[in-house]
Amino acid sequence: MNENIVKRNELWAQKVIKGLESRNMSGYYAASKEEALMKALELIPKGSSITMGGCMSAQEIGLVDAVKTPEYRFIDRYAAPDRQAAEREAYSADVYLASANAMTEDGVLVNIDGNANRVSAIAYGPKKVIFIVSMNKICIDVDSAMKRARNVAAPINAQRFGLATPCAKTGSCMNCKSPDTICCQFLITRYSKHPGRIHVILVNENLGF
Ligand code: SF4
Repeated sequence: MNENIVKRNELWAQKVIKGLESRNMSGYYAASKEEALMKALELIPKGSSITMGGCMSAQEIGLVDAVKTPEYRFIDRYAAPDRQAAEREAYSADVYLASANAMTEDGVLVNIDGNANRVSAIAYGPKKVIFIVSMNKICIDVDSAMKRARNVAAPINAQRFGLATPCAKTGSCMNCKSPDTICCQFLITRYSKHPGRIHVILVNENLGF
């Protein structure tokens, strides 16, 4: 990454972190994937039960591999005989790993979901939620964050899962009501009632989409 972009993102991240703190959430800056992994592991006590939604960013920094070890209890919904039961276990897990589809420079997180297991667990249940968010997902305001979520993250996710949505064909949101739509629920997290629950690690590398 260009050194001026790195410098600008470092400064910008401080603004995002202040915004998060004003909303009873914690923010951290990581210059690299390696730093992000170290910070995330500091936040997860050994022995924790851990689960996640579809979170490419956690995979890309090596966090998923790091917690799929005997030191933790990783609830793997893909390996579970009953996937829905495993997803419901998320509500009582110690830690939930997530990313955001977008967030604002003043600390509001925006997520969209088809199945709603991810947005519901972010909103309520797991004792701690750790977001891994790359700086390329930061937007000026909620309106632009929502546009990013629907015109960047959603079409790529629809393509990733081979869904028959208009955005998978056109690359941008057509505001569909397709049976395959992944835009069933929109979650805007603007404040946390529970101190110490939501942690956001801002990573100065491009992760996820
Ligand atoms: S509403 Fe439909 S077209 Fe728009 S992003 Fe969501 S799935 Fe794609």
